[in-house]
Amino acid sequence: MDNPLVETMEPYASTIFSEMSELASRTGAVNLGQGFPDIQGPDFLVDLACDAIRAGHNQYAPRSGVPELRRAIAEHQRRFYGLDVDPDTEVLVTAGATEAIAATILAMVRPGDEVVTFEPYFDCYPAMVARAGGILRTVPLHFPDHALDEAALAAAFSDRTRLVLLNTPHNPTGKVFTREEMAVVAELAVRHDAWIVTDEVYEHLVLDDVPHIPMATLPEVADRTLTMSSAGKTFSMTGWKVGWVTGPAAGVEAVTSMKQWLTFTTSGPFQYAVAEGLGMDDAGYAELTTELRARRAQLLTGLAQLGVPTNRPASTYFALADFSGFGMRQALTEMPGFAEEHGFVGVPAAAFVTGPEVEAAGPLVRLAFCKREEVVTAGLERLAAARRPTAR
Ligand code: PMP
Repeated sequence: MDNPLVETMEPYASTIFSEMSELASRTGAVNLGQGFPDIQGPDFLVDLACDAIRAGHNQYAPRSGVPELRRAIAEHQRRFYGLDVDPDTEVLVTAGATEAIAATILAMVRPGDEVVTFEPYFDCYPAMVARAGGILRTVPLHFPDHALDEAALAAAFSDRTRLVLLNTPHNPTGKVFTREEMAVVAELAVRHDAWIVTDEVYEHLVLDDVPHIPMATLPEVADRTLTMSSAGKTFSMTGWKVGWVTGPAAGVEAVTSMKQWLTFTTSGPFQYAVAEGLGMDDAGYAELTTELRARRAQLLTGLAQLGVPTNRPASTYFALADFSGFGMRQALTEMPGFAEEHGFVGVPAAAFVTGPEVEAAGPLVRLAFCKREEVVTAGLERLAAARRPTAR
């Protein structure tokens, strides 16, 4: 029989994250690949989720999400960004940001429509654009400073641009787009009458003293911007899969139309826990980054001591490291051998780019620092051993 998977999805048959996690468990390697924390999120949230299950919130939640969570999301947008969001018509709760992104692309992109995004990108973007029959127009951000090339961005837009997919803070570069950079994107979206879909799942994981600027706060694009976020990242509960979309009612309505055929509703009990969690005080939010900041410092200092060049991520869970010094030319093909030989796994950054960028990103590896101190230490020890001539 033929491969039952439709041809457009063949290049996306598995994700690099699953492949690398599988590689790590098969080889017993230290896994700084997949971006999930190995430390549990706040205990009070665990209690709230258990309470919600015991209280009987175990049947289908409303299609758009439980009112408590929709109100909490609207209040969160007001509290942190001064945005006025109607919880009844301008909020949709989704099964993680992944579903929010998928439902938005499937709802809005027609065959032949163009979607502009930066590369490296979060890998669900090209997969969903392909499934919708759209065409991805990518704009490279180059290691190590990942500066925005305005001319390249402008050249990626055309009269077929349906939407622009922005991600700030950005995975995997850790870049937090500045207000000026956001304004450039906004101006182009207006000029080409495109929607802006902005993935802001790392909004509370900014580690440097720089502001996260939500695209929706730029008044000129508030009426064409759909914002995605996720409790998974904010609360280190990536398995809960509670995300959301906020934005103008017509856009949220379109995404809801698609979401209802994917999952219909999102897991109920977790929604009640997240609703209370979002109301956490400022000290609680500040605490979310304390450990992460320490782990970033540990990883970057350790890599610098080994002479491994890296970027300096201002946010997210990730750093990018240049593994040329380990003899790596193309991590996509060489990471399995590296894991076998040196007991270390990271994610090849070439999995997040297209065309000529695949070769350029060959030696770059994405390393997750959202891990326990001893795991980062073990990872650095393996790399130190790989550096020693005798180890090769
Ligand atoms: N967007 C980005 C940029 C991400 O890094 C991730 C998770 N790795 C997601 C979306 C998906 O979020 P969720 O787990 O809530 O589906």
